[in-house]
Amino acid sequence: MTQAEDTPDNVTIPTFCHKCQQEIYISLPKILIDNANSYPVSHAHLHGNPPHVLVIYVDRQYFIRGTELSETVTVERARKTTPLSAMVLLRIPPRFKQTAMAMLKLRQANSTEIAAITGKTQNAESKYLGAMFRLGYLERIRVKRFFQYAIPGKSR
Ligand SMILES: [Zn+2]
Repeated sequence: MTQAEDTPDNVTIPTFCHKCQQEIYISLPKILIDNANSYPVSHAHLHGNPPHVLVIYVDRQYFIRGTELSETVTVERARKTTPLSAMVLLRIPPRFKQTAMAMLKLRQANSTEIAAITGKTQNAESKYLGAMFRLGYLERIRVKRFFQYAIPGKSR
């Protein structure tokens, strides 16, 4: 059990991290603990190099009731999108150009509709659209049982 140190809005809680092999100080907004639905409150503190997570369990008096260490951590980031635009068209790989131009015209379409414009096969357009989706130029939306592709965000 560790004594908490008080400040007006935050509480600094000293604890020991077995990965770092040293005492660390975790500063938390008191409101997180004061307004919790149940106790102890679990809080994950990501720190160190290599990064690891110390989960602390804090009671309503800001005392630590337990800790747990995760030695590895993964962070999932939102996929970065670069909405397809005339500017993007200039630096898009050449094999996607026709598909990209057709998408700029329709803004939302499936591979069959794109194929009708480019004159390529639906299968080829399906691959190009999928690749452009993975590159972040398009978003994939589900319309009933089928996927369509769309240019993310507002029209320009
Ligand atoms: Zn640590």
